[in-house]
Parts: sequence; structure tokens; C-alpha cells
Amino acid sequence: MTATTPAAPLLVIGNGPAAHQLLDRIRHFGCQDPVTVLGAEDTPAYHRALLTSALDGSLPAEAMELPPPPGDTTIHTGACAVRIDRARRLVHTADGGVFPYSRLVLATGAAPLIPGLPGLRTPDGEPAAGVAVLRTLADCARLTDPAEMAARAPVTILGAGSLGVEAAFALALKDRPVTLVHPGPWPMDHLLDRTAGTLVCDRLAAAGVEVVTGTPAASYAPGTLTLADGRALAAGTLLLCTGVLPETGLARAAGLGVRTGIVVDDRLGTDDPLIHAIGDCAEHRGNRGGSLASGWAQAEALARHLATGARGVAAARRVLRPRIAGPGLVVLGIPGSVPADETITLNDPANGRYARLELTGERISSGVLIGFDRAIATTTELYVHDLPVPRDRLSLLLGRAARVARKGPVELCPDSVVCLCNNVTHQDLTDAWHAGARKVTDLATATRATTGCGGCTRQVESICTALASTKAAATGS
Ligand SMILES: Cc1cc2nc3c(=O)[nH]c(=O)nc-3n(C[C@H](O)[C@H](O)[C@H](O)COP(=O)(O)OP(=O)(O)OC[C@H]3O[C@@H](n4cnc5c(N)ncnc54)[C@H](O)[C@@H]3O)c2cc1C
Repeated sequence: MTATTPAAPLLVIGNGPAAHQLLDRIRHFGCQDPVTVLGAEDTPAYHRALLTSALDGSLPAEAMELPPPPGDTTIHTGACAVRIDRARRLVHTADGGVFPYSRLVLATGAAPLIPGLPGLRTPDGEPAAGVAVLRTLADCARLTDPAEMAARAPVTILGAGSLGVEAAFALALKDRPVTLVHPGPWPMDHLLDRTAGTLVCDRLAAAGVEVVTGTPAASYAPGTLTLADGRALAAGTLLLCTGVLPETGLARAAGLGVRTGIVVDDRLGTDDPLIHAIGDCAEHRGNRGGSLASGWAQAEALARHLATGARGVAAARRVLRPRIAGPGLVVLGIPGSVPADETITLNDPANGRYARLELTGERISSGVLIGFDRAIATTTELYVHDLPVPRDRLSLLLGRAARVARKGPVELCPDSVVCLCNNVTHQDLTDAWHAGARKVTDLATATRATTGCGGCTRQVESICTALASTKAAATGS
């Protein structure tokens, strides 16, 4: 190997949420070194978790953008890295660019998994005609082709995990006939029990989605998906929501250790001391992240390691908030993954509401809540910050234990946390707005609201609109 080139920057491959968090956190820990980012997509970094809001047209692509990173950071969009030359510490891009590095971070994420079902690929390995995926804004643009939207062309979705469920609601909202096919007994059966799964199924049916469960798909030919029981479903567009695979091609070709993901240790290091990996592409202690929370925890740990030499990755507290029609759904952690000391359930089928929380000690180890919006806000905050639940469990589920004190016991006071990921209150946003942050992106820069899972972006937009109207009314403008 050659000696480290002092002028070479920290180079990051990938411009998704994990990379974005790393760029923010290394400055937080005081690192002022130059950073270069190579992102294969043509767009600035955006909230991937909000893609179905672009699919149903409720958010313009610009509102999904993440704020520009602080400090001396150069971002190259449309720059796809194709080779790592470890001996010369260089990365080559598809357009002939060559980028030196002092250290390299792989944040290449994951790509949709195309199952080995007959007919899904052409002989040269490309997706067959009519087969679509949903991982990027470009995928969204293809799925919302104006001619197909105008013709209300039907879509069949294969896989009712959280992505398949979200996509079904989004496309149904755009008046597309949607069939959702899932081999399991109910949607999201890997996370939801029968009661919660049935409620989600009812909501899908109410939104006009035809749900076909319990039968795997057998084969595809353009226009038709055939199920194992012989049924043939019309599938002008077949949207695959069948999972993702970590993007490990660059690492593998460079001779780095790869199992399912790129293997990293407690300093997020690969087996090359100058190369790290974070986010959906990484595999830490045998675990593939696959969630925003794990990517952020790894980005935080790597930023701290680069600044201070510390090692260790905090356990990620995963919050999944699939966007469904009607009152919200949240899945905290992975239900059933940790033995529970206590399980609290509240079932209100007449109103389509259900909650199940698993506690270890006095803390939430996992949970599913559907329809209890105030309780969703409170329990999510308790879970994310690993805080004890109040002794009055019912008050928690009924949303009466509203505001959570970050230190000390849980208090009963008005619920005003808007961005649960960053603990930003309505008041914080109002103050920032009055201080001049008038757009969602400005508020994100000022308060960090929306820069977590992005689930509060619409709420922040409404706060912006409400404050602007109040000001206009007050000034008569
Ligand atoms: C619709 C949707 C909803 C979701 N909702 C949730 C949710 O509610 N909660 C949750 O926890 N997770 C959710 N997820 C998953 C979450 O978005 C991912 O876990 C997260 O995006 C992973 O971040 P990442 O930066 O590791 O990878 P990615 O977001 O995949 O970003 C990787 C980036 O690297 C780029 N890249 C790859 N290879 C190269 C290369 N060779 N050269 C240059 N650039 C490259 C890619 O183009 C991409 O932009 C959702 C995902 C989708 C699609």
C-alpha cells in the first residue's frame, strides 16, 4: 500500500439516509476534514421512507429532500462508483471519474430483491416487461407514468410487508385498481399478530385494494401473475415488494469480507483498516440492519470513532410507521423477539383500534399500535428513549400520559413532540419559524425535525402553513 495522501478526503460512497446522518454527526463531533460523497442517484439526498408519499402525490419530491450537510462537503450526484482500487486508495466512477481517499465509507444501501419466480427476468437477467420495483424517486416516476395513471392501469403488488402495504394504499389513493398478493396469512404477518393484521386487511379493503393472502405466486408472464393454486391475476404492472438485498458488489470485488452484508466490527470497520461500511449494506455482529434506526446508530458510532477512536454501536431502536389510510400504525422493535415480563393489550374492534405492548422491566421492548394516535406518539417516545412506562398502563394506551420528560419519571402534560426521532416540539418549530425558518427544509436545518424517519414531514408542513396564515391574518396581508 502507498502512504496516506494528506490531501485526500474522507470519501463516502452512497448518498442515502445513513450517509447523510454520518455527514451531520462527524461535524457534531468536531471533525472539520473535507468530505467527498459519491451518490449514484441524480438527486440530492432525500427521505427514502417518504417515497410512498411521492407515489400518492401528497408530497412533492422537493419536500422529501434532506438539508444540505454542514462543513466542507462536496457531493457528486449521478456518480456511480464502479471500482475500489485499495492499493492506490482510489475509487473509479462509471463516467470515468477518479476519487482519492484517506478513508472510505461504503453506504451503498440495499436494492430490491427479485425472487427466482419463473418469468420475472428476461434471458439477459433484466426485469421482464411490466415488472417494477420501488426503492428510488426514479422508480416512483416510472410507477406514476402519466399515461398509465390516466388510464387507471391496474397494478398487482407481490408481497404485503410494510412496503407492499404502503404502496397499495398509495396507488389506491391515486385511483389505480390494486391487487395485493401475499403468501402469508395476513399482511405484515412477520410483525403483526392476527388481530392487528386483520385490521390492516380491513383498511386495505376499505381503500378498494383486493387482498389475496395464503397462496404463493407461481409464475409471471407479461400481463398475468399465476398463483400456486392456478388462479391467474391481471398484472399490467407487477410491483415487487419482496424484500431487499444489501448492495455489496463493490466491496466483494475489492476483496472485502461479505456475508449477506459487508462484514463490519465494532468500529464499523471492514477487514481493510481504511474502509468502513454503514447502513443497509453493512452486517454488524451477524445482523443486517435494514432500518433507518440501525443506519443512524451505525452512522453515529462511526462518526464518534473517526473523531475520538471510540468503539461500539448502540442498540438501534427500530420504529416502523407504515403509511396507511386512516389513524396510524406503528411497530416498535420486533414483536416477540425479546422475552416479555408483561404484555398489555387493548382491543377495540368496533373502532378499528388495537394495541399490544411488551414490557421488559418497566420499559417497552416491542409493540404494535393501530388507531391510537396519541398513544402512538407517547409510546414511541418512551420506546425510542428507553424510558419507563407509567404505572397506570391504561392511561398510556388511552393517550392520557401524553408528554414524556426526558429525565426523571413520566409526566402528564400536553403532548407536543412533533419529531419523535429528534425530540422536536411544536414550540421549537414555532420559535424557529419566527426566527426566519419559513420552509420545511429551513425548519429541518434549524431544529432537525423531519431528518429522522421523516414521518412528521406532513405535520411540519401544516405547522408552516398554519403559522403563515396566522401571520397573514394578523398583518392583513
Ligand atoms: C418506501 C419505503 C419506506 C420505508 N419506510 C421505513 C420506515 O418507516 N422505517 C424504517 O426504519 N425504514 C424504512 N425504510 C427502509 C429505509 O429507507 C432504509 O433502511 C434506509 O434508506 C437505508 O439507508 P442507507 O443510506 O443505508 O441506504 P439507501 O437508502 O439504500 O441509500 C444508499 C444510496 O447509495 C447509493 N449507491 C449504491 N451503490 C452506489 C454506488 N456504487 N455508487 C454511488 N452510490 C451508490 C444508492 O443510489 C442510494 O442512493 C423504507 C424504505 C422504503 C423504500
